[in-house]
Amino acid sequence: MAAIYDIRDPRFEALIHRSARLETLWTGGRWCEGPAYFPAGKYLIWSDIPNDRLMRWDETDGSVSVFQQPCLHQNGHAVDAQGRLVACEHRGRAVSRIEHDGSRRVLADRAGGQRLNSPNDVVVKSDGSIWFSDPTYGIDSDYEGDRAESEIGASHVYRIAPDGTATSVVTDLLKPNGLAFSPDETLLYVADTGWTHHRSCRPKIRAYPVQADGMSVGTGRDFAFCDTGLFDGFRVDTQGNLWSSAGDGVHCYAPDGTLLGKILVEEVVANLTFGGPKRNRLFLCATSSLRAIYVNATGSA
Ligand code: MG
Repeated sequence: MAAIYDIRDPRFEALIHRSARLETLWTGGRWCEGPAYFPAGKYLIWSDIPNDRLMRWDETDGSVSVFQQPCLHQNGHAVDAQGRLVACEHRGRAVSRIEHDGSRRVLADRAGGQRLNSPNDVVVKSDGSIWFSDPTYGIDSDYEGDRAESEIGASHVYRIAPDGTATSVVTDLLKPNGLAFSPDETLLYVADTGWTHHRSCRPKIRAYPVQADGMSVGTGRDFAFCDTGLFDGFRVDTQGNLWSSAGDGVHCYAPDGTLLGKILVEEVVANLTFGGPKRNRLFLCATSSLRAIYVNATGSA
């Protein structure tokens, strides 16, 4: 069996289990994205964007079924403190939430009176505010949404306040994509996949200090550059290590930005999340498949 770990720093040894295998839980998607784990229900939801469907993996028996189709070409997801699914809709050009009664509620579809591009990924902060990225991938073509012109003319990260107002918080990226907070929420990490449109834009993750008001960020800095493919979605563990999707699998970075190691996957990984009752199992959305591997780390909220 080919090695699945590429260890670049001794610290990575403590974050993995040498004997843990990379499991394929399901295959058959066109482009899988947006995993979200629901501990109370023991299941995981993810997107198969070009097929306009949400899939559901049942932890109790390993079965996989279609959760919703069509689904407005949803992409990234998060689970809020009340256990509700928060969704980025390409075709809806909105961030929405599934309420406990199953109804869909639009949380934001405009900024400054203009329609959003196509929300891509989302995170819920501990204060209940919702932060999301809004690049153009869902309106660039008819493959993952409906082709349309951008009304805003730029791609930002926004924060949805409790009153529903969406305010831009990060405006210096070409195509903001995955995002996550550090465990203490003093840093906001955001991936830039602008390379897809401008080859001079190096694939990277930037780190922004969250201001004392908790509602805005200061000047960002480059945190890490991707050496293979692009950083898309990522998560942070309780020790502050950042686990990111990349072209050759998963890259793990220390809080200081050092590449600790990789988990090699033969398909491009677009997103990941921690799940399982102990939040120590990484679920990967890898192009056509859903993969999982146990690690010696615990996902941050
Ligand atoms: Mg994404």
